[in-house]
Amino acid sequence: MDYINKPESVIKACRRCDDCGIRAEVKSEDEEMCLLQCSICGKEYPFYKSSPEKRLEQAINEESNMLTSEIYDIIIIGGGPAGLTAGIYAMRASMKTILIEKGPPGGQMAINKGIENYPGFIDINGFTLSEKFLEHAQWYGLEILPVEVVAIEPGIDFHSVRLENGTTLNGYTIVMAPGGVSRTLGVPGETENLGQGVSYCATCDGFFYRGKPVAVVGGGDTALEEALYLSKIASEVHLIHRRNEFRAGRILQQRILRDPKINITLNSVVTNIISNGNGVGSLVLRNGNGHESKLNVEGIFIFIGFSANSKLVPAGIKLSANGYVLTDEKCETNICGIFAIGDLREKYANQIVVAASDGCVSALAAARAVEMKKAGFTACKLQRR
Ligand code: NAP
Repeated sequence: MDYINKPESVIKACRRCDDCGIRAEVKSEDEEMCLLQCSICGKEYPFYKSSPEKRLEQAINEESNMLTSEIYDIIIIGGGPAGLTAGIYAMRASMKTILIEKGPPGGQMAINKGIENYPGFIDINGFTLSEKFLEHAQWYGLEILPVEVVAIEPGIDFHSVRLENGTTLNGYTIVMAPGGVSRTLGVPGETENLGQGVSYCATCDGFFYRGKPVAVVGGGDTALEEALYLSKIASEVHLIHRRNEFRAGRILQQRILRDPKINITLNSVVTNIISNGNGVGSLVLRNGNGHESKLNVEGIFIFIGFSANSKLVPAGIKLSANGYVLTDEKCETNICGIFAIGDLREKYANQIVVAASDGCVSALAAARAVEMKKAGFTACKLQRR
């Protein structure tokens, strides 16, 4: 029997109880359905006022409306200079955006003591600059979620980001800005003495070495900057570099040479970190001639660069030989709608200003992709590779 789309009176007249054969009465009725009930046995029969096809179409529409409203335009992972700048540009482009950062905002920049090459600031503390980036992004109302991302799952219509709390967020585009991780020496005693004399952060741990001798390993900007910082705290700083010239900028090199508390050891590597039972007591150094010597220090600060924090990069995304993500000029990876910026991306210079630039480029490109997608084009069709 087909009672669909019939007026209530017809339903009343035609419908009989399957068991009793007695006409069922309308028990209740709303815009969508009638609930009929047999007056003898009480059995209830729901009858919908619209056709099954119409109801199915309605259900699909409701689901997709719900889904659409829950899809972010841009999900940014990482709250360093790259991620926060992407957030600023995404919000200015009126994108529904969320930035996920498990730690304090600013990333590596926040622990940088003196930044002297970010345009507009002759010398600014990294923490202060991080706060300015954050304040700027939040002024535009950027939503920041302080949880850890455990996986990025590329999709077709949208991509998904799984969080440690079990939630999954969906986004038309994802901007990966997780920064870098400190490289390790990989010598005996390094892991064993971590937190007991071995450190990768002078801002965090320098305080514990007041009046004590320490070593700094590395020849780049970070190592020289941190050596200068530690020379104000420690009794003496031994700067150990594997080559006979520094990679760091000239200004830093000149300052290092002028600092009486910094002793420079070139052409040498640390081969062993030895504990005195309470933490680091000495290091074994080997010079270019293979000669080994012992250096008594209570702390060793290792600044030998960073590698890309690529643990979240989904399979299928192309990496360089050094493990950095390869992108086009829009900072987009080979997976459409997934962008990589800042220290994760293969590029010539890892500078705060370049990270910020990446943030800008990726957010503008992501916003364009979202707009095209909403206008009925798929971002991938627009892609020309
Ligand atoms: P970096 O420039 O990559 O320098 C790493 C240093 O560690 C190099 O001197 C390298 O020696 C040495 N090294 C690498 N592996 C080693 C190993 N296994 N054993 C011993 N030594 C090793 O790293 P960074 O200084 O952390 O700087 C990273 C980026 O941030 C750079 O682009 C830098 O310019 C930038 N940065 C900028 C500023 C600033 O502008 N204020 C501050 C900090 C960092 P070799 O020289 O022999 O390769």
